[in-house]
Amino acid sequence: MRKKIIAGNWKMNRPEGGAMAFAKELAKSAPKDVDIVFCVPFVGIMPVAEAVGDSGVCVGGQNLHTEAAGAYTGEISGEMLAAAGAKYVLVGHSERRQYFGETDIIVNQKAQRALQSGLLPIICIGETLTQREQGITIDLLRMQTKIALQGISEAEAAACVIAYEPVWAIGTGVVATAEQAEEACAAVRQVLREIYNDQTAEKIRIQYGGSVTPKNAAELFAMPNIDGGLVGGASLKPDFAEIMNS
Ligand code: PEP
Repeated sequence: MRKKIIAGNWKMNRPEGGAMAFAKELAKSAPKDVDIVFCVPFVGIMPVAEAVGDSGVCVGGQNLHTEAAGAYTGEISGEMLAAAGAKYVLVGHSERRQYFGETDIIVNQKAQRALQSGLLPIICIGETLTQREQGITIDLLRMQTKIALQGISEAEAAACVIAYEPVWAIGTGVVATAEQAEEACAAVRQVLREIYNDQTAEKIRIQYGGSVTPKNAAELFAMPNIDGGLVGGASLKPDFAEIMNS
């Protein structure tokens, strides 16, 4: 039985009332049988980790560099994230792909670097509206998954999280239906079986992300291949507590 995982992606935002107070308050209502992760801006990792304390809530980064160290002004390494208190890191979020030119190859390099740094990558994949309309969603998800996991062993893959995030649903208020999300996540699980084996594929958690709210979360998270969610906008509001408990 896979443990559900719900992650909030604060992006380049600060929750109302301040990061530490918000995180501390929310951590009080975090369920114990679900992994909860707050993916916060770099400077927030240490204070938010301190604020959530021993509540069981984990902190994650939103990006890392492909290299362990070096002359990369303005960048941050996986080791630095881990040292600051992060356990997870988002890799290949569609905003990174869209605005910062991250390709599937870079996503793979970052996922490998995350694992080498002791972080668990949440690898984001998903199709644009055009790609959905062209009927290539499943092909694209298969390709993104295969490239992202190249060179990653069975044991390492079992610890990775895949976030299926249709780009057309991110920040738009247009959520995928539970059936659309399940179809995509089931297809991702199938490709995981092909890359690894049944056992490993059954261990890897697959999240849905894109306009998740307290109203639609329970239905999405109840689908057999959806093991929780990656939540943007709604993770900055106190009612994220409802999503965590969906
Ligand atoms: C996201 O940023 O990963 C996301 C899913 O955003 P939102 O929930 O706001 O659609």
